Amino acid sequence: MRKPLKEALLSMLALMMSFTFMTACSPSDESLTKEQTGTKAAAGKYKDGVYEGKAAGKGGDIVVKVTVSGGDISKVEVVEHQESDMISDEAINRIVSLVESEKSTNVDVVSGATMTSEAVIEAIKSALVQAGGSEATFAADPKVKSVNKEAETEQTYEVVVIGGGGAGLSAAVEASQAGAKVVVLEKMSSVGGNTLVSGGGLNVPGSDQQKKFEVSDSVDQFVEDTMNGGDNINDKELVQVLAENALPTAKWLINEINVEFMPDRLQQFGGHSVPRALIAKDNQGTDLIEKLKAKADELGVVFKMETKAEELIVDDNGRVTGVKASNAAEQELTFHATKGVIIASGGFGSNVEMRKKYNPEFDEKYMTTDVPGTTGDGIVMAEKIGADLVHMEHIQTYPTCNPMTGIISYVANSRFDGAVLLNQEGKRFVEEMERRDVISRAILDQTGSYAYLVWGQEVEEVGHMTDVHQQEYESFVNDKLLHKADSIEELADFFEIDVQTMKKSIDTYNKQVEKGKDTDFNRRGTLRPIAKAPFYIQKVVPSIHHTMGGLKINPQSQVLTGDGEVIPGLFAAGEVTGGIHGTNRLGGNAVTDVTVFGRIAGQNVVKE
Ligand code: ADP
Repeated sequence: MRKPLKEALLSMLALMMSFTFMTACSPSDESLTKEQTGTKAAAGKYKDGVYEGKAAGKGGDIVVKVTVSGGDISKVEVVEHQESDMISDEAINRIVSLVESEKSTNVDVVSGATMTSEAVIEAIKSALVQAGGSEATFAADPKVKSVNKEAETEQTYEVVVIGGGGAGLSAAVEASQAGAKVVVLEKMSSVGGNTLVSGGGLNVPGSDQQKKFEVSDSVDQFVEDTMNGGDNINDKELVQVLAENALPTAKWLINEINVEFMPDRLQQFGGHSVPRALIAKDNQGTDLIEKLKAKADELGVVFKMETKAEELIVDDNGRVTGVKASNAAEQELTFHATKGVIIASGGFGSNVEMRKKYNPEFDEKYMTTDVPGTTGDGIVMAEKIGADLVHMEHIQTYPTCNPMTGIISYVANSRFDGAVLLNQEGKRFVEEMERRDVISRAILDQTGSYAYLVWGQEVEEVGHMTDVHQQEYESFVNDKLLHKADSIEELADFFEIDVQTMKKSIDTYNKQVEKGKDTDFNRRGTLRPIAKAPFYIQKVVPSIHHTMGGLKINPQSQVLTGDGEVIPGLFAAGEVTGGIHGTNRLGGNAVTDVTVFGRIAGQNVVKE
């Protein structure tokens, strides 16, 4: 069971307060308006009392407590939920406060969190049914829509940033620190993008953690691993920039932005020759996003939420001078940029049509780990004005995701600490530290196109994955996708795997661990046995995770045309760009990429 909402939302509080602060300080007079239609039902429509209701959300049941007094809704509390990200938290808050204040269940869903919004509304309705409510009562409730309306539909800034994920926030902070007046346009109702739902891994050669664990590493080694990981089609000049700037950027994040990385944790993701990933607090991108957002607020960066960039404005000299956008209040907006525009709108993992256009293999059969906002908008917008696109066909799947939702599993990161992958027949079939694409393809080739991760106490006590990601763990257990037991036999029984074959695979592996060499698959990294109870087995599938292709940029983060010419006034950073990762992005390289190039874009745009 997930911790109560109150507790879960504590970390959100600072962020929400910063939204309030931002609105109050916004120079553009944003005002909250409510559009209401329909008639208010008569008071006395419900019986007084406290009622509990529930409905299935994205991560499990959402349980609410509704207090009815004076015949109408007076209080709504969410007592339990397992929705996993900041976007869902924001949606839950919005819906609850609207239902409470407007005494209506006829409330608009929050964009980007439709499933969560609908589940909260359904849970409230199921509570109200016990108070005498019915579909007819609910339909008579006034229709409530809450939107941010701009007083001015045309606004001028020095820098316009499209997208409020890791790259956009890093760019906004840098540009603002250099003295520019910056606006961030974010089409969802909260910032963070894929960076927020990432595991917060940041590859850095030469970190304090590497020194502590006496890991020998270098910029050159990082470049070599990244190039090999991408089958050497990567833009080497950009990889060099990534590797050289990783350490200074980590220091910037730690010292100036106050991001917390675990001092005693250093992870070796697949394809890296040494452990080099710092891991952010709580194994999540949350701290990174919250701290970058807090810094941006402190610097006076203006945020326009639920505001979607639609088109780049180009003057007669071919210079990008602004962005046309639309918002949830259905306004057409123009944001002029006197210095430049930075596209940081992320990849296109959530856009099935676009995936199919560039690589038909990645069709509807794949779910995605990505947030709904990653639909490739920035790529389409920039291509229209002549930007070059590179490596668009290279789309990455993450091998170990939730078979029901496609969402990435962080509990499954036990793989990096020593868990083995088995198929339905109970056999190992791939080196667990292989590249994501190799493992994903190998899993798809197995019976049922899924796999099982198996580990015991020796692995669990390294990263404590079931504790660190307790909510995810419990939701896997509830959905019967993960089982903990005292013996390998019980694990095999749970998923109807042949017991003898599975025991043999584990025994063989343990013997190899003892000898210090995995002669079957040459597993890299530290080898750990699977001999001590409790044991765990988790079912996993590959899911679309990262789109390597995108806008072609130079080392200054300027967007280039097909002729290699710079498009004046246009910069791009993060997953919207292509070339850095080649055919395949290595684990921990995305957060390094978005923060390094976000900063570079932010620093250079002000020089225009
Ligand atoms: P990166 O890792 O490159 O920073 P993220 O996925 O973290 O990418 O963030 C990209 C952000 O851009 C998301 O929050 C997404 O909602 C936002 N976004 C995508 N398209 C648009 C658009 N057209 N207008 C405004 N924001 C957008």
